[in-house]
Amino acid sequence: MNTSFLPRIAVLATGGTIAGQAGDASKTAGYKAGVVGVDKLLAAVPALSSVASIHAEQIASIDSKDMSAALWTTLARRIDELLAQDDIVGVVVTHGTDTLEETAYLLHLTVKSAKPVVLTAAMRPSTALSADGPLNLLNAVTVAASASAKGQGVLVAFNNQIHCARDVTKTSTYAVDAFRSPETGVLGFVQDGRVEFQRTVVRPHTSASEFAVADRWPMVEVVTSHADASGVMVDALVAAGVKGIVIAGTGNGSMHATLTHALGDAVKQGVAVVRASRVGSGHVMRNGAANDDALGTISAGTLNPYKARVLLMLALAASAQDLQRVFDTY
Ligand code: ASP
Repeated sequence: MNTSFLPRIAVLATGGTIAGQAGDASKTAGYKAGVVGVDKLLAAVPALSSVASIHAEQIASIDSKDMSAALWTTLARRIDELLAQDDIVGVVVTHGTDTLEETAYLLHLTVKSAKPVVLTAAMRPSTALSADGPLNLLNAVTVAASASAKGQGVLVAFNNQIHCARDVTKTSTYAVDAFRSPETGVLGFVQDGRVEFQRTVVRPHTSASEFAVADRWPMVEVVTSHADASGVMVDALVAAGVKGIVIAGTGNGSMHATLTHALGDAVKQGVAVVRASRVGSGHVMRNGAANDDALGTISAGTLNPYKARVLLMLALAASAQDLQRVFDTY
């Protein structure tokens, strides 16, 4: 088939359940993630040949629970190289669902192009009955090839929905509609070849972001507050040289008094502390005398703790001084 008239899309594979393999087609757990190569993933979707001409690369073959900042740097730089080519109109990244929201937000803040970058994944391995990966991949390529996706930042195409990288989060351990954008909702839909956006992204991203991936990343960790929380983990992290701590706090990023005491000491030693919430939706507002003004902590707004960690890593790598502005902006 002559594909020269079709938009050229780069598909970068990193592993995940979409590339998972099980010995038994009826099994949707207990499989090995990240073992099926990108050529086989593409071959399972014959309909792609009428949507795009594909350039495929295997960037990694991992279970995304093992994602690393070093791999983020490799991935973001390769995406920028590909998008700088005139013939490439967009990039699709196949990924595991577990840390997809972190990679998506990292790319949203570091890729320097208005061309579409779309992540997709699957909840069922490629060998499963009713595997969801093939249709998700077809939809992701369809979105990446769509002119309407340009300038919307990094997107996640999953289960016929299009999400903004900043807002999307995994909300189920097994359901095929595992991804949601709490509070904000989806950006749009992709179904049967039709791409429809319902809203646009207003916070700065991609070329309008001040951030870039780093060769060396600062150590930033997430600590949870809960009944009986102690300061042991915070003290250990400070001793290990941590540069930033994100608190997955209760409610409005509130923290156990014992933990608060340890974090106050950490701030005095130069550690950046950001308050996010473990609740799963809603804002974390600045809380004045309770923490932020008194201790010098930062509120994460609507970012969940894991996305707040991504932004804090980028901000610290860029030596940003005004961290509250950073969190209020991105
Ligand atoms: N369970 C994961 C997934 O759904 C595995 C991974 O994140 O790579 O893709």
